[in-house]
Amino acid sequence: MVSTQTVVLTRRHELLQFVDAAKKVGQSIGFVPTMGALHAGHRSLLEKAVSENDCAILSIFVNPKQFGPNEDFSKYPRTLNDDVNLAKSAKVAAVFAPTVSEIYPEGFLTSVKVAGLGDGMCGAFRPGHFDGVTTVVLLLLNLVGATRAYFGTKDFQQLAIIKKMCADLSHPTTIVGVETVRESDGLALSSRNRFLDDKARLRAHAVPVALAAAGKAFLDGERDVKKIMEKSLLKLSEVQLTPQYIELRDATNLHPLEGVLSMPAPRNAVLAIAQFVENSDQNTKTRLIDNIVLSEYDVTIRARLEAFIKLVGLNS
Ligand code: AMP
Repeated sequence: MVSTQTVVLTRRHELLQFVDAAKKVGQSIGFVPTMGALHAGHRSLLEKAVSENDCAILSIFVNPKQFGPNEDFSKYPRTLNDDVNLAKSAKVAAVFAPTVSEIYPEGFLTSVKVAGLGDGMCGAFRPGHFDGVTTVVLLLLNLVGATRAYFGTKDFQQLAIIKKMCADLSHPTTIVGVETVRESDGLALSSRNRFLDDKARLRAHAVPVALAAAGKAFLDGERDVKKIMEKSLLKLSEVQLTPQYIELRDATNLHPLEGVLSMPAPRNAVLAIAQFVENSDQNTKTRLIDNIVLSEYDVTIRARLEAFIKLVGLNS
């Protein structure tokens, strides 16, 4: 073992030294990049990284390049002490928590773009967001040189883009997708959920309900894309919510799906929603994203969808 404690590193060269030492003794490395404000969703990524590798590294970096000018970069929650404690309890070997200038020193000019995949869905409403994500993720993947890196399927489009970037560029790190961790009523955990007041939190439940309603229709045999999406829209409208977008796309290449679904194996579809939920003060609104995967043939995915529908309380 190189280290039995959790070390906190802030400089690139410290991280490189740490990684070098681990690799010299033949350790495999699992890497979990995050923006901090950690919750049980992040914890499940960390636990997978710890269990599947000799040593796990967590990064915490609120990446300014992935926030638009009117987005919540300055308000994004920053809870480093709590995050480090969570990392320690999860047996993470190192936390890399650099400053913005450590990642983007003066003169930083590079931007990484995966063409096409970032155009629709979240990308349509957050111009430049995914270029910011891929730029920082590739930089971090290069610094860590991990055996495996872990990303949540909650950010489905992000995961698809990162997988494509790594495939196109022959990156040696294996990208692993991890299932979304949810509250007991089905709401996907998110660092931004803490911004929801009690009333907004209640209405936010409509997001998983909307997905579950569409998922149930699919499992019951509905294949008309419009009708599947209408099930979701109805559930949202019951609590006066209108999504920023709701889209059904091919889960592999994110191509939009229209008309009547006919999904040749092993292709699956992803139904994704972005929804703003406003607080009672009407000054704060929180953007939530979530998705479900629909599969004609994959029994694991279908069982997961059934469990999700049950969790949300829609199985009757
Ligand atoms: P973030 O800190 O929000 O950028 O997220 C860091 C990583 O955690 C990303 O790969 C996310 O997809 C993943 N993540 C966020 N929320 C969840 C969740 N509820 N369940 C599983 N993974 C998640």
